[in-house]
Amino acid sequence: MRRYSAFAIAREALRQHSGWETAWRSPEPKAAYDVIVVGAGGHGLATAYYLAKNHGITNVAVLEKAWLGGGNTGRNTTIIRSNYLQPASAAIYEKSRSLYETLSQDLNYNVMFSPRGVMMLAQTESEKRALQRTAHANRLAQIHTEFVDAARVKEIVPIINIEGPRYPVLGGLWQPRGGTARHDAVAWGYARAASSLGVDIIQTCEVTGIDRDARGVTGVRTSKGPIACKKLCLVVAGSSGVLAEQAGFRLPVESVALQALVSEPVKPLIDCVVMANTVHGYLSQSDKGELVIGGGADGFNNYTQRGSFQHIEETVRALIETFPVISRLKMLRQWGGIVDMTGDRSPIIGKTPVPGIFINCGWGTGGFKAIPGSGWATAEMLARGEPGDMAGPFSLDRFTEGRMIDESVAAAVAH
Ligand SMILES: Cc1cc2nc3c(=O)[nH]c(=O)nc-3n(C[C@H](O)[C@H](O)[C@H](O)COP(=O)(O)OP(=O)(O)OC[C@H]3O[C@@H](n4cnc5c(N)ncnc54)[C@H](O)[C@@H]3O)c2cc1C
Repeated sequence: MRRYSAFAIAREALRQHSGWETAWRSPEPKAAYDVIVVGAGGHGLATAYYLAKNHGITNVAVLEKAWLGGGNTGRNTTIIRSNYLQPASAAIYEKSRSLYETLSQDLNYNVMFSPRGVMMLAQTESEKRALQRTAHANRLAQIHTEFVDAARVKEIVPIINIEGPRYPVLGGLWQPRGGTARHDAVAWGYARAASSLGVDIIQTCEVTGIDRDARGVTGVRTSKGPIACKKLCLVVAGSSGVLAEQAGFRLPVESVALQALVSEPVKPLIDCVVMANTVHGYLSQSDKGELVIGGGADGFNNYTQRGSFQHIEETVRALIETFPVISRLKMLRQWGGIVDMTGDRSPIIGKTPVPGIFINCGWGTGGFKAIPGSGWATAEMLARGEPGDMAGPFSLDRFTEGRMIDESVAAAVAH
């Protein structure tokens, strides 16, 4: 595929944009592949890209039941940060954040990475102690964050009300190189780059069954017919339990809807991301001027990819305490995605009980930020047949061995 460049833009401007190629190929599936990745969200596409780029494995198909990037990858609020507590999480999220720094150049696709800074507010004494502890842990892991006092929070976020009414701001965990990226562009960039390295991305191809013999996986049944494979990787977020059932095992994952909304567009108000975990809401401002607002996940299991009135009310009411300025804004759009939650709020990357089947899931409310690092680690695992150092701690057997990676403070309402 031809590279995007300033020269290409000038050339196409002169010929009325008649020469652009399609961004990725849309092939018919072959009878067999070395690796099949199920799910063309960010994690599945990044896995396929790094399989091809880092390990030279290109006989790969990514099967997607709908359109690529239409799952949680295209529905999230795009927060990128690596201020997690446990060493295993710090390693994979920081690898990911650092890959985001140069992702546009690597993929030759503008993913609009904007390291505008992420502030996680402390609004109770216990939250303050927990975030101070995280700041110390981050320093040990060489991740640049700092715990700042309330006056500094006000300096960084002038529209904030640090005085209450219920929960005054006591300080915040500030990560200056955290930020946002354009979610669709991340999916499209990985898809284009993977396709140009020879990966087949097959959309509207639902996996409906998994075939295995005594030695392990042999292929999948799909809405476009059966496809054989040597290795299979399930990367389907909220549908992970459904695919695991097809393969004959169970996962410690619950699927729930997580919602977000945007306001009408306004002039620039806030130039970083702010999360208020105690009142249960967070916001940032998009390039169009909309406030991008999110809250907590539904309190019951469901597969509903849409919003509900109760959430608008709960989330906006909570945020108005800390950001009174938003009380006059009209809310414009609302949507939902199905997130895959584990008990310790950390992902699962690893082998499954079926030889040849690997899994990447459990990113819950916070996997957008992890797409590059997760794809990197999952590709390494698929290429070697064993998880490497980065994926190792996130294996499925941690739930039977009691090796939890507790990220409930980092993940709470924060994404
Ligand atoms: C409202 C909301 C806000 C969020 N905010 C943030 C945030 O600010 N920061 C952050 O880091 N994370 C955030 N997240 C979480 C993040 O979006 C997800 O963790 C991440 O996108 C998961 O990516 P994925 O590739 O694993 O899954 P997905 O993008 O959901 O991709 C999985 C794909 O699998 C496909 N699929 C399912 N079943 C089948 C089948 N049988 N056959 C073929 N294909 C199948 C689906 O169609 C889908 O396209 C948020 C999520 C939501 C819903």
